[in-house]
Amino acid sequence: MSRFAYVNGQYIRHTDARIHIEDRGNQFSDAVYEVWGVRNGELMDFDGHLRRLARSLGELKIRIPMAPAALTVILHRMVALNKLRNGLIYLQVSRGQARRDHAFPAANVRPGIMITAKSTNAITAETRAEKGISVITQPDIRWGRRDIKSISLLPNVLAKQAASEAGASECWLVDPDGFITEGASSNAWIMTTNGVLVTRPANTDILNGITRRTLFELAESRGIPFEERAFSREEALCAREAFVTSASAYLTPVVEIDGKPIGNGHPGTFSLQLREAYVATTPMRSRGRPVRDPVWLVAHRLERLVG
Ligand code: PMP
Repeated sequence: MSRFAYVNGQYIRHTDARIHIEDRGNQFSDAVYEVWGVRNGELMDFDGHLRRLARSLGELKIRIPMAPAALTVILHRMVALNKLRNGLIYLQVSRGQARRDHAFPAANVRPGIMITAKSTNAITAETRAEKGISVITQPDIRWGRRDIKSISLLPNVLAKQAASEAGASECWLVDPDGFITEGASSNAWIMTTNGVLVTRPANTDILNGITRRTLFELAESRGIPFEERAFSREEALCAREAFVTSASAYLTPVVEIDGKPIGNGHPGTFSLQLREAYVATTPMRSRGRPVRDPVWLVAHRLERLVG
């Protein structure tokens, strides 16, 4: 399939897409990213991901590259150009291209933006969810600002590779006190034997997953109790159910941690119910209309005033 990317203002064939060698994302990981799940041609949790992008950029003082309405159009055009039914849209914004120097470049350096599309097989993903996945655990060796969706993912890459070599799909990262922070590319959840959903609170220890936040709403509307608190590897091993959430995996049940079965070793009932609810309702939560988010709008207006 011929695929298109968007790079700094141009839609271009994926195979011809290039960024400059002195893009600061390339040299310093000085860039952030976002990923939208696409299901039946719809961008899922559209506004939530756009808002988090604005937040990540703000935390790193990277200029917002364009108005949200323009970005909304481009993201939808990428879905259409790539005839994407199921898959992912990946967006990366860097601080721009400048002569290599650690400190920020001049204020007039424009942020770099690139977007790619990837199709995935919906049936494979569904089968995976029906079977459940295995996870391993490893020490969390990442930096102190995991709330920022930075492209600096080397510890995550190593953790995922370790999982892959162990025949598992995900690696849950463990803090120095023995508590799970999150997965290498997903948020980690358990359901206790009392039927309470537990996931780590969103502070600088984890990425505040957009799927995670949507799941709170789904759990609430179904009367399923939940708590935001840290849980240990030991508590997870005794859990009734476990699962991960992310834009790409939606909610995927975990049936094994470090080789030990969770619950009866099959995907949990609540996990499957919540996955179904997520898949059924999430595309309808947002049609990707131009965002009227105050954080984004204020930041964008300020930027136009300043620069
Ligand atoms: N934590 C990490 C480290 C991730 O990479 C991801 C996926 N981007 C998540 C959590 C889940 O976030 P989301 O639900 O927004 O995809």
